[in-house]
Amino acid sequence: MPPQIHILPETLCNQIAAGEVVERPSSVVKELLENSLDAAATSIQIDLERGGKSLVRIVDDGHGMGREDLLLCLERHATSKIRQDTDLFQIRTLGFRGEALPSIAAVSRFTTSSRTEEADEGWEVRVEAGQVRDVRAAGRPRGTEIEVRNLFYKLPARKKFLRRDETELGHISETVTRQALARYDVQFRLSHNGRTLIDLPRHANPEERIGALLGRPTLSQLHPLRLTAPWGEVHGFLGEPGLTRSSANAVYTYINGRFIRDRLIQHALLDGYRNLIPKGRYPVVVLFLEMASEQVDVNVHPTKHEVRFREPSGVHDFVASGIRETLSSPAATVPEKGEVMPPVPSPQRSEMQREFPATLPVQSSRQDGKNSIKEALDRYAAHGADREGIAPSTGGFQVTTPGRTESHDGGDRFFARFQLIGQYRNSYLVCQEDDDLLLIDQHAAHERIGFEKLKVQLQQTGVERQRLLFPLVLELNAAEFADFSEVLPQLSRLGFDLEEFGQRAYVVKGVPQLLQHVDFETLLRDVAGELNTIGSSGLVDEALDKVLMTMACHTMVRANQSLSQQQMLALLKELDRIDFSSRCPHGRPVFTRMSLADVEKLFQRR
Ligand code: ADP
Ligand code: MG
Repeated sequence: MPPQIHILPETLCNQIAAGEVVERPSSVVKELLENSLDAAATSIQIDLERGGKSLVRIVDDGHGMGREDLLLCLERHATSKIRQDTDLFQIRTLGFRGEALPSIAAVSRFTTSSRTEEADEGWEVRVEAGQVRDVRAAGRPRGTEIEVRNLFYKLPARKKFLRRDETELGHISETVTRQALARYDVQFRLSHNGRTLIDLPRHANPEERIGALLGRPTLSQLHPLRLTAPWGEVHGFLGEPGLTRSSANAVYTYINGRFIRDRLIQHALLDGYRNLIPKGRYPVVVLFLEMASEQVDVNVHPTKHEVRFREPSGVHDFVASGIRETLSSPAATVPEKGEVMPPVPSPQRSEMQREFPATLPVQSSRQDGKNSIKEALDRYAAHGADREGIAPSTGGFQVTTPGRTESHDGGDRFFARFQLIGQYRNSYLVCQEDDDLLLIDQHAAHERIGFEKLKVQLQQTGVERQRLLFPLVLELNAAEFADFSEVLPQLSRLGFDLEEFGQRAYVVKGVPQLLQHVDFETLLRDVAGELNTIGSSGLVDEALDKVLMTMACHTMVRANQSLSQQQMLALLKELDRIDFSSRCPHGRPVFTRMSLADVEKLFQRR
């Protein structure tokens, strides 16, 4: 057999390396920003076209490169940042692998020009799909400019993975946000299709930078932290526990100025917040760890987002307890705003609201609301139709109690026939029907009512809208902003009137009438996040159901609420009014039934 193995050509090697490092336009921006910061730039301008797919251009005022370096920087494993193996454990720069530029140049039309302080003139190099086409002298100020056009133009298969301009732009803004939070002393500007989106002057302190990037309202809910650790220092800002998100996208963690997404740090953080924020929620955090470079290995992953610590548990425990202590100090306990929102009587209330929230306070405790969204969604996801005790997705409403199945076909008087005995522990209605004892979970019942009503409304007329007297401005981070732009049509179908407002915000002008009294700021963020992760394919209907569950949860009577006789009877009547024959929302059972025989068995009377 002739030899089968051969060495790959250089351009192919670069394309393979690019596969690891260059996933999308934001990866290009990340690498180029790192290079500019490593070159001690104090001002960085980023220009984009079509979400970075047509153009990413970065201009910096760093120390620049001479002609020879400008050619060398395009070679693989060419770097000015390390020389020998021991340097790998002394890294103080963001880059060191010498891979980014050749990788990017291998998959784009690439032009770079640069000039150093001492040189009389600058130089420009043009590369196409990895081949150097042109080298010439170019007049330009000190610093470096890199232009990356038509990313993946020779790799249609990879190009297909790119998403809409807005989405790619969202990723890029997030990348810039991450870098800019760490370097408040550097000026960053970002424009897209000629429009300026981020314009950050050099700031005097991290607070100003955070305010500019994450919004003043967020800044006012952050607590500063600065601690000396045995291995270095931890400093930054911790969001108060009332300020949470459904994903970790507002968790910004850094080691020696490098943004990282590290499991250990994330775990330590959540450990620090344990019992302060609901499970499944994430805090808003900007946290910097500083340590001697030999304490941490950043050469673990091509994108350098993960690290390895020499003493992982020491780092973990210090961070976790540091957070816990900071948050429990008296200065950090800020009372929660808007715990209970009393219902406002309104002439155009829906039927359901006339009967329930008018007499029962609708709770909108921030944590409560979030907790229940998460629970509802988890429940929804976890309970398959085939699970015991859960109704199948076809046919009537069924509830099983051990060894028994109840079926209700949506006839007009089912629950109202029950004879009400009373309320148990402010959470369950106790009823009797003939010889049977029935327990109704008031929270689950209400949730079901809300869900079914929203569903019917949505199917028939679309949701009734309510214009807000005082429109709400939603300040978003880059990722959230991208989420919103993607799901606007769905949100509108759900009854939210939203308009873009400035560079990073939406103004909410109208909401579904059913939700006018709830904390829709949190709701909207969660809904957008959910819709976005679920996507818009055949899953939309499922997503809408999930969203309805989420919405229903926000309007519900909670457990632990004392109900009057009248309110309990109204609840039973309302249960009859909803259509249980529609598809089951896979919730917990609303009620359970025990026969006389079951009860007698408990007392060993048989
Ligand atoms: P790395 O950053 O890992 O060294 P890169 O491929 O990103 O590898 O860059 C290669 C080299 O090119 C860098 O080591 C640096 O010397 C030089 N370089 C890249 N970008 C710039 C820039 N904006 N200003 C000055 N020098 C740069
Ligand atoms: Mg680099």
